[in-house]
Amino acid sequence: MKPLAELDAASCRALIGVAFDIDDTVTRAGRLEPAAFQAMHELTGSGLHLVAVTGRPLGWVDVVAVHWPVDAAVGENGAGWVWRDGAVPREGYFEPEEKRRAYPDLFERVRRRVARELPHVKPALDQRARRCDLAFDVGETVRLPAADIERLVGLIEAEGARSAVSSVHAHAIPGDWDKALGIERAVRDALGLDTDADRGRWLFIGDSGNDAAAFEYFPLSVGVSNVRDYITRLPAPPRFITGADRGEGFAEMTAHLLEARR
Ligand SMILES: [Mg+2]
Repeated sequence: MKPLAELDAASCRALIGVAFDIDDTVTRAGRLEPAAFQAMHELTGSGLHLVAVTGRPLGWVDVVAVHWPVDAAVGENGAGWVWRDGAVPREGYFEPEEKRRAYPDLFERVRRRVARELPHVKPALDQRARRCDLAFDVGETVRLPAADIERLVGLIEAEGARSAVSSVHAHAIPGDWDKALGIERAVRDALGLDTDADRGRWLFIGDSGNDAAAFEYFPLSVGVSNVRDYITRLPAPPRFITGADRGEGFAEMTAHLLEARR
């Protein structure tokens, strides 16, 4: 990982937009940091598109898409997204409704197996707002040891779901989506733009294991400095790393982009 200072000015000037993770990328101990929220306004003020992408529930993303200065918000690691069409919120899903109807049975199997084999592992507190994802708490109200997280991932996969692990949750994922694919679909729906054709003109910033697909997809990928805590979970590390952590790192990235674009 190169220091953020080595991200060249020409690449910064060519940018169309920024996609960012939420937990531990713009938040600290679960709260949105003021420097990061200010930075979001500065990014949109400079003419850049902004997309939030999180493992958090689609029910939370409904709020982010309406209240935050973003063009779209992607939830449940790419399962769905919300954007504003004027004053009207619109939503999209990675899979059609007939496939989504099968998710509850899979989730019930995973839930029962985890309750039997890892009874101390509990569903995430925000589970009731989820529509396409089952999440377990690994770091939000508890600190689950790495060995337990590995076993949990094994159980999820043994029941036929995919898995992704963030700083707070381990997810059971019933479809083939990930954060990179979610961003691509959301940007197409919300803005009519093709991120795949313009990959080098979007920057992604994140911090942990469920950001792996986006770190790989976007050539301009940035980790806030706390990404070092999860580096063993990342098949490909981000290309650049900030000096500061969490929302302060997001603000540092923003200052670097705006300086180059001035
Ligand atoms: Mg995160």
